[in-house]
Amino acid sequence: MGERQLILYRRGALCFFAAALLLALLPVLNQARAQLGLSASIFRSVAALVLTERTAEVPILLYHHITEEPGEGGAVSVEIFNEQMTALVEAGYTAVTFADLDAFVSGDGALPDKPILITFDDGYESNYTHAYPILKEHGLKATIFVIGVSVGKNTYKETGQAMIPHFSWEQAAEMEASGVITIESHGYDLHEVAGLDEEPIRLGILRKEDESLEDYRTFLNEDCDVMQALFQEHLGKSVSVTSFPLGKNDLLSQLILVDNNMIATLTTVAETNRIVKGVPQSLHKLGRYAVGEKTDLIRLLGE
Ligand SMILES: [Zn+2]
Repeated sequence: MGERQLILYRRGALCFFAAALLLALLPVLNQARAQLGLSASIFRSVAALVLTERTAEVPILLYHHITEEPGEGGAVSVEIFNEQMTALVEAGYTAVTFADLDAFVSGDGALPDKPILITFDDGYESNYTHAYPILKEHGLKATIFVIGVSVGKNTYKETGQAMIPHFSWEQAAEMEASGVITIESHGYDLHEVAGLDEEPIRLGILRKEDESLEDYRTFLNEDCDVMQALFQEHLGKSVSVTSFPLGKNDLLSQLILVDNNMIATLTTVAETNRIVKGVPQSLHKLGRYAVGEKTDLIRLLGE
């Protein structure tokens, strides 16, 4: 773990402790409040304000392929995607970025009333051709997590097997430069497919059963290094966020990613995230809602 992460982790632990202490003290403070004859409702409002000012509820949406025809198996059609984005804007959501979340937890950054993150996994070309113009039109920002080895490809690695086309580094750079889209990592080569990769396949980022801890650490560090080099070369920036392929993760993979300067990591657990000021760890293992063709987005978000 690097020096900076260690400091941030220690600071985070301290804030957690302070928050726990505050919660533990609430009954004592409440008693004092009663003796002083202050109104309970005013006390509750002040306590809630102190706690809620430091936390934010942030839902994150997860999309994959965008199709011209009605979407199947996790894909969403252009028409429905457009309707969903319109509904988000009408419901008063502001699409924020991971840089915004980082500014909130690590510094003085503020978040809008109803923040939301729109994310895409895998880096399909349809994100560039269909989703990007719609997002731009609605003034919504989004993050796309690309599979490094698949960028610009329509066949699976060296197998020659056809797959859904993925956008190129040039298209990625164009989207990134627009300010509408942020490109982040879904691993360089952490998305093995049964029948196409050497068996036994790796389950997302996880360690293989017959792999030593040292081999695994070396493998994952190298995967991160290759991705960092590609990002520098094509986008002129570092990777700072990773979405776990297949959502799979464990403590070991988590720690290695933090060691590789990830400020945030994402799973596929369907839950709204509570992020906390002064607690950078609250940006790890973030949950996401997978959105499909039939998803009623506004209902999903509990509107
Ligand atoms: Zn994926």
